[in-house]
Amino acid sequence: MSRPAAQRSESVFEDFKHAYGKSQALAEANRCLYCEDAPCITACPTNINIPEFIRKIATGNIKGSARTIFDSNILGMSCARVCPVETLCVGDCVFNKQDTPPIQIGKLQRYATDAAYEAEWSFYEAGADTGRSVGLIGGGPASLAAAHELRKHGHACTIYEKRSVIGGLNSTGVAPYKMKADRAVQEAEWVLGIGGIDVLTEVEIGGDLSLQEVEDRHDAVFFGAGLGTDRMLGVPGEDLPGVRGAVEWIEEMKLGTADLSGVARAVVIGGGNTAVDAVRELLGLGVASVTMLYRGDEAVMSGYAHEWAVAKQDGALSSWRTQPVAYLGDGRLEGVACARLDGSKQPIQGEQTTVPAELALIAVGQGKLGDMLAGLPGIDVQWGRVVVDDDGATGRPGWFAGGDAANGGKEVVNAAAEGKRAALAIHAYLEG
Ligand SMILES: Cc1cc2nc3c(=O)[nH]c(=O)nc-3n(C[C@H](O)[C@H](O)[C@H](O)COP(=O)(O)OP(=O)(O)OC[C@H]3O[C@@H](n4cnc5c(N)ncnc54)[C@H](O)[C@@H]3O)c2cc1C
Ligand code: SF4
Repeated sequence: MSRPAAQRSESVFEDFKHAYGKSQALAEANRCLYCEDAPCITACPTNINIPEFIRKIATGNIKGSARTIFDSNILGMSCARVCPVETLCVGDCVFNKQDTPPIQIGKLQRYATDAAYEAEWSFYEAGADTGRSVGLIGGGPASLAAAHELRKHGHACTIYEKRSVIGGLNSTGVAPYKMKADRAVQEAEWVLGIGGIDVLTEVEIGGDLSLQEVEDRHDAVFFGAGLGTDRMLGVPGEDLPGVRGAVEWIEEMKLGTADLSGVARAVVIGGGNTAVDAVRELLGLGVASVTMLYRGDEAVMSGYAHEWAVAKQDGALSSWRTQPVAYLGDGRLEGVACARLDGSKQPIQGEQTTVPAELALIAVGQGKLGDMLAGLPGIDVQWGRVVVDDDGATGRPGWFAGGDAANGGKEVVNAAAEGKRAALAIHAYLEG
């Protein structure tokens, strides 16, 4: 298992949301109404008892507060940084209906969980050995949450991770102004601190080891392999240097060095959260002109409005109802030829523009990995997603799945919730 390089492009970024000091945390915690039937709890996919952890901060019991968070979500440290709280817990805080700023739950969660990491508090021990073992495919949030819960019940775990670095997209994808790769790896190591979880990195299931071999080695299997590589548009010139998949480029920038020499103008194609992240990252790395090209209108883009608003403040440009038809350049990218689209997303005859750019990042989604399971009798795969029941079980006895591979691509907190839920189902399955 390797750690991210010391010199990384992402290092230049500072936290967008600053951490609370003690007096700020106390003041904010004391504003909370500690609601009964608190809507913020229901809005959290891991159902953290938010009023309880906030009350513990208010009474100075930071260790108890962190414990309350981790009891529900062992990835509470990263979720405090990366969760879109504006659309989850904070968005549902009762203060929103009272014309009063909602409680900054994410910042309070960060205050308590950072304290736990700094003090090196460890809260959990592995259960008595059951003699059973579980193989987990992928080393991202879903598998980490599942493995931790399985160890609490005494089952041996082996995580198979194809990359050299653990943590999944928390390490390789999340925007560095939310969390950097070394912090994500530190979290993974903290979770693994429960002991008894073997991590085999640089082992690709389906390549180095077959699915059948994993099944033969273990009593149950959890599939948490996330999503596949960037989808491309398949238009001419896509193989020109300077045309890249956004997630691939973000990984390079987070774990190593993104070479932006000669790049004064960049475009990002897409209107989702990865596209918005890429725009902000390119601007933060000093690219002078960054334009989002999106085939819809601003009102319908799927990227979070609050994130896009910040990108615009940072200087992001945009071209709506615009679709690339060719990448142009002699030996490397010089511009993107685009069609203008009408309200039904059909090209408007005679309306083509060329957007000059030395770098184009394509952020129109990632492929799905579920198809690699399609050959296993009993496992249903639809649109590349592994079909699971409410407990995360597939139709093949002993096979479970969760996180992006099963939900099609949501958030870290969903992966954490689904990993834990599947672990409880695996425990029930192993107990017969
Ligand atoms: C650019 C980007 C930014 C994001 N930003 C945020 C954010 O700010 N906040 C948020 O909450 N969510 C964010 N997300 C979504 C979030 O990262 C995912 O929902 C979450 O990481 C899913 O966890 P997972 O464990 O299911 O999958 P992943 O995190 O993808 O982990 C899967 C792991 O499986 C490994 N793997 C894949 N195939 C194999 C194989 N055959 N054998 C062995 N290992 C394999 C992969 O290398 C990877 O490490 C972002 C996603 C992207 C793409
Ligand atoms: S809804 Fe808001 S005020 Fe009520 S418990 Fe949650 S954070 Fe506190």
